[in-house]
Amino acid sequence: NRKLVMIPGPTPVVRSIQDQMGRETVAFGDPDFVKDFKEVIGDLKDIFKTEGEAFVVAGTGTLAMEMGIANITKESYDVLVVSHGFFGDRYVELCQRKGLKVDVLKSEWGTIVPVEEIEKKLKEKNYKAITVTHVDTSTGICAPLAEIGEVVKKFEDTLLVVDGVCATAAEPEYLDEMGIDVLITGSQKAFGVAPGLAIVLAGPKALERRKSLGTIRDYYIDFEKWIPIMRDPAKYFGTPPVNLIWALKESLRIMKEEGIENRYKRHIRVARAMQAALEELGFTLLAEREHRAVTLSNVLYMDGIEDGEFRKVLAEEGVVVAGGLGAYAGKMFRLGHMGNIDFHDLVSTISAIERTLYRLGIKDVLGKGVGKLAEELLK
Ligand code: PMP
Repeated sequence: NRKLVMIPGPTPVVRSIQDQMGRETVAFGDPDFVKDFKEVIGDLKDIFKTEGEAFVVAGTGTLAMEMGIANITKESYDVLVVSHGFFGDRYVELCQRKGLKVDVLKSEWGTIVPVEEIEKKLKEKNYKAITVTHVDTSTGICAPLAEIGEVVKKFEDTLLVVDGVCATAAEPEYLDEMGIDVLITGSQKAFGVAPGLAIVLAGPKALERRKSLGTIRDYYIDFEKWIPIMRDPAKYFGTPPVNLIWALKESLRIMKEEGIENRYKRHIRVARAMQAALEELGFTLLAEREHRAVTLSNVLYMDGIEDGEFRKVLAEEGVVVAGGLGAYAGKMFRLGHMGNIDFHDLVSTISAIERTLYRLGIKDVLGKGVGKLAEELLK
């Protein structure tokens, strides 16, 4: 029984991307690989629109988070963390460990920190950086990034670091236009690649800041160590994950073929249809409607449904979803619907959820969600 992995990362990996991971590994100095790597870096800069640099290194999103902040700050700098959930909070701990002075603006889970509050806070101190999680995977909240970018632009010294791990390649992120100074992300979500790549884009202001810091404490994640390699991948600093870089290249090819704007629009359509179908089945969603992510849904159980049992039966019906985090553990499941998933995946998922509810005693659901899904997708 094949299981559809509908957790919010890793997302389903399409065959053509899997094939790249299954290729015979070559030397990292192989001229064809060097050319491929160079193309990947160029495409990332084109798609996410920056005059700066793109970095692709072996690691996960958390490593990218470290890389994002470590290159633009030094001990005792003031930084502001905007937290919409578990991954926002992760940036608090990470920054504190680096000896930064951290102020936090936190929202109640399922809501946002109002942009006016961010602006007010930025006026209080000379913050050297602000971090914002574009989509917090724990709450399904999508930050109003374009508006935040406009506000941060007014503060010359404050660099905007965006955690796009659960957003990049599904929610618009254009660095230089939107005032994003550093975008950090990973391969396993909306890129639809297996886990294992930390991807970081840095705009001109961030690169200038890095230069001004001199030698930094971190080694593996130092921009200055990697810049020569990203410009000319024939050079060596750390062994590149050859097959994952090929996989990313194929993912970018798919993205270019689809068109990035079309990809963003598709994610909206899919998310709204999935969310309507879930509501039709009687679920409620944690994230307030006007700030709901397109990459995943954070779905609250109705009375009488127990988390462990629901997810076990759903897996028997062929679909794997993730549990809730923090205070929502046991109260919610998290359903990813991003990347290269297709219509069949969506229908199968909603149908499996219906069969699960049916087996758990809610009998009047068969066909309802699937009907709603189709209706929405045909609009
Ligand atoms: N930020 C966000 C928004 C995430 O969703 C995740 C992973 N779920 C991370 C950071 C950390 O990424 P990783 O698990 O790849 O280290």
